[in-house]
Amino acid sequence: MVLLDPSIWTGKIYVNGWRDGGAGTANATEPATGNTLGSYGVASVEDVRSAARAAAAAQKEWAERKPEERAAVLRRAGLLWEEHAEEIDTWISRETGSIAAKAALETHTAANECYDASALPALPAGEVLTSNSSRWSLARRRPAGVVSVIAPFNFPLILSIRAVAPALALGNAVLLKPDPRTAVCGGVALMRVFEEAGLPSGLLSLLPGGAEIGAAVVEAPEVRVIAFTGSTGAGRKIGETAGRLLKRAHLELGGNNAMIVLPGADLAKAASAAAFGSFMHQGQICMTTGRHIVHEDIYDEYVAALTEKAEHLPVGDPAGGQVALGPIIDENQLKKVNGIVQDAVAAGARLTAGGTSEALFYRPTVLADLTPDNPAWTQEIFGPVAPVMKFASIDEAVALANDSDYGLSLSILGDVGMAMAIADRVESGKVHINEQTVSDEPNAPFGGVKDSGNGSRVGGAAANMESFTEIQWLTMRPEIASYPF
Ligand code: NAD
Repeated sequence: MVLLDPSIWTGKIYVNGWRDGGAGTANATEPATGNTLGSYGVASVEDVRSAARAAAAAQKEWAERKPEERAAVLRRAGLLWEEHAEEIDTWISRETGSIAAKAALETHTAANECYDASALPALPAGEVLTSNSSRWSLARRRPAGVVSVIAPFNFPLILSIRAVAPALALGNAVLLKPDPRTAVCGGVALMRVFEEAGLPSGLLSLLPGGAEIGAAVVEAPEVRVIAFTGSTGAGRKIGETAGRLLKRAHLELGGNNAMIVLPGADLAKAASAAAFGSFMHQGQICMTTGRHIVHEDIYDEYVAALTEKAEHLPVGDPAGGQVALGPIIDENQLKKVNGIVQDAVAAGARLTAGGTSEALFYRPTVLADLTPDNPAWTQEIFGPVAPVMKFASIDEAVALANDSDYGLSLSILGDVGMAMAIADRVESGKVHINEQTVSDEPNAPFGGVKDSGNGSRVGGAAANMESFTEIQWLTMRPEIASYPF
């Protein structure tokens, strides 16, 4: 079976089956070549309304299913990601411009997200409480109801399945709104996997579209929880709407992640970690290393080693042979990246590598001698750019790392004792000692502080339970209680 057989989904959205979208169709485009890969359906606001009604109706029956039945669907979904990995990897590689290893990581993680989620239905669903009255008292977890999942373009599969799988496993229905640039691997692929895994109709709807459809899946009255991954600007708008409508919004947002390189760190290894952290997937990762804070004793050698790496990394179409970097997702994003690099140089940064592009292929770029007000230091670039600054004391390194609106991921390379003392003082959702900033596992609590997010984290059973269930307090007595009235 070809999982992504175009005859099934071409020109269609999914609401209780594949059907025409109210807003027509759009093309899936390959950023490396500009070629059209296929055509998917685009949802209208009316489609969102009918999907939300279908979800609310289907969710009741799904929540009553035996835990083992829900678990079985998730296990089958995990198997399907593995069985069809090669086919899906090719789509990821072509639609998102990923190198083969990044595409394979997405399908591998998708399978593991489903296997981990398959364990959720059998977990204890609450606690037995003590009570000052003569009664039984329970805090029991119930499905939240209908959950909307909105995902970005960069890791379209992981960033949607990490919410879709646990939400479904815990008895919810889901409205999925992928980014229009990656609607096939961030939408159609999930829909086909769950369709083949035997998920009952109505529980998962695929609603591709832009910000307007994103807003509609937030506002639909049946939706109780929103799991959003994307920019801080869009997250803020969603948070405002959710606050007004008294819905829960888990917002996983932008980052500008620091890597602190301590005196005495192994320079060759540090430069390799730095290049991976800044250039992997063209720097289009929320956890990308966006600020290199390097001790003055090793600063010059570090800049030279990173520049050397940047100059030698091959950039090109991932379909045409082994490359380290593929294309930027589109022209707008490329202009934004290059604009920040040009502004950074105008503000006094020293360009030691890159800063040039051909079509959508941007060369890995190193900017040295930054100052804290340089735009390449203060903004999330979301491109293959490594801005570097030097520090003299540990206090200064900590202050520089914390001087950011964001707080998602932080790396410290070098002496572990010194790194542990720094880890206690930094404002960051995650800290990686002797690793670069990009890291994620299905069972680890993932999320940021400050402008990087407000969620109760994704990943791990505790975070997923918190994100996708509501607690009901239930008390019981053998007979009706006596009252003084
Ligand atoms: P974006 O916010 O523009 O888009 C993300 C998704 O939100 C897309 O599906 C988009 O269509 C939708 N959207 C946009 N505006 C919306 C609105 N007003 N209401 C509802 N939906 C809306 O994000 P982007 O710039 O394309 O993606 C990159 C950003 O995502 C970066 O800032 C990156 O750091 C962040 N990101 C965060 C994480 C994380 O886990 N913290 C992971 C990956 C990416």
